[in-house]
Amino acid sequence: MASSAIVLAAAFAGPLASAHAAQFELVYEGVPDEAMPSLQMAVDILAPCLVSDVPIRVRVQWIERGPSGFAYQAAFRNRDFLPLRDVWYPSALANAFAGERLADQDDINIFFSAKTDWYYAGEEAIGEKQKDMVGVMMHELGHGLGLSTTTFTPWQGDPISTLGMPNEYVDYFDYSFALNEQDGTPSVYDSLLRLADGRGLQDFENGSIDLTFAIANPTIHFTGPEATKANRGYPVGVVPLSLSHAAELPRQPEPMMADNGSSGTTRRSNDPLALAMLADLGWTIAPECRTWGEG
Ligand SMILES: [Zn+2]
Repeated sequence: MASSAIVLAAAFAGPLASAHAAQFELVYEGVPDEAMPSLQMAVDILAPCLVSDVPIRVRVQWIERGPSGFAYQAAFRNRDFLPLRDVWYPSALANAFAGERLADQDDINIFFSAKTDWYYAGEEAIGEKQKDMVGVMMHELGHGLGLSTTTFTPWQGDPISTLGMPNEYVDYFDYSFALNEQDGTPSVYDSLLRLADGRGLQDFENGSIDLTFAIANPTIHFTGPEATKANRGYPVGVVPLSLSHAAELPRQPEPMMADNGSSGTTRRSNDPLALAMLADLGWTIAPECRTWGEG
């Protein structure tokens, strides 16, 4: 009897607990049929942890030339309901704050390379050189939900970095929404990055070698209090020069936002650190997913 009572309680807890879980609406463009269940699985893992009354619209596109995965997001700034001024909030989060859709457009565009050797959910075993479609989709959704820097350092010529300015990488892709103004405004994520000496990205001249030294500095880290708590009180390292990505520790599970996600491994669960970082951006995380505690 005891065990069936527990089952009953769990059955009731499910729908109640996820009453405000975010809904995702996926639109596919050129996506092969065999990829779709994996993309949906990634959404199904993340969605119950995010709270929003506004569905999150994601367009997923297969491209012939480009990185394995890339995400970009529509963005809003300086609305009364947004906590910080003069930073870009990803559209999905701005909608969640507003409690309504702010613009009739996709929130996130995600691009996947047709050239990548993808491993799809349900296939036998992942090959050493294959990339896990579920894990990479979760990673790209993390970017699209706001774990994304606006800094850019060119690959050629002088390494002069910019913050929130137009750049050739972002311009490479075709988006279903109009890009926000590229006028030097950082993302809300950027606003939480600091060097060990306390300086933030906006303490350096935009379009300068000094900014490159800051971006490349090994002490650069994410200062959000939730993420710091989830990281046992230690500063949350991000990857120098690739600030949208989380630092990895030896013999620890790979972070969802690890740079280039390694091949030959799969992800089928949420990463508390990524969820805590999203909480620091302003996302409400469902209580059952806040495994790092209220502190
Ligand atoms: Zn990434």
